[in-house]
Amino acid sequence: MNLDILIFAAHPDDAELGMGGTIAKLTAEGKSVGIIDLTEAELSSNGNIESRRVETEDASKVLNISFRENLKVPDGKVKVNDEIVKTVITRIRKHQPKIIFAPYFNDRHPDHIGASKIVKEAVFFSGLKKIETDLDGQNQTIHRPDKLYYYMQTYEFAPSFVVDISNHFETKMKSVRAYKSQFNNSNAEGELTFISDPKFIKMLEARARHYGFQIRKEYGEPFYSEETIELKI
Ligand SMILES: [Zn+2]
Repeated sequence: MNLDILIFAAHPDDAELGMGGTIAKLTAEGKSVGIIDLTEAELSSNGNIESRRVETEDASKVLNISFRENLKVPDGKVKVNDEIVKTVITRIRKHQPKIIFAPYFNDRHPDHIGASKIVKEAVFFSGLKKIETDLDGQNQTIHRPDKLYYYMQTYEFAPSFVVDISNHFETKMKSVRAYKSQFNNSNAEGELTFISDPKFIKMLEARARHYGFQIRKEYGEPFYSEETIELKI
């Protein structure tokens, strides 16, 4: 399967929060997008694995993605090791994406930092033919994606580029709201956390407006690239 875009996230809902508008835009344009979550977020203060699984399915439908997989790494233990890097390589080689997105490499949550490092290593080693992998008993062919971009989570960075999501901001927020147990649940029994505080949803909108304005659009999502990007004029 030749996928256009493959997104890695430490927890279900990270991809929606960081780049839900861009995902909605890409799938609306007919691009194939897959998301691989590393953990089931079982350490979350609200919800449980089963409720989060249903919420993740709902959010995936809102964004119209091609597939979603969970690698079931223990939550809170997302760190670089040979096993997880190799597992991520097998997924890159399976889906052969043109572009990969990962969490930005400095953040509040240590799992986001770990996921970022794991994906960066896997993207590089996936292109080396002497690193052999097999999946379901099949030897895999090597694959190096064209680009690795990072999306923003809690900590901000000066973006390398901003994607205009003005026509897809509502879809992004719908995908975020699909995680009912996590966000803005002031009338539910859940406890108030960093992300369930209504101020968090307001911050999401303010951030989208802020980065949108930087490119003179209504809403935008910022991304970072370690490599220089060619501007085709
Ligand atoms: Zn997360």
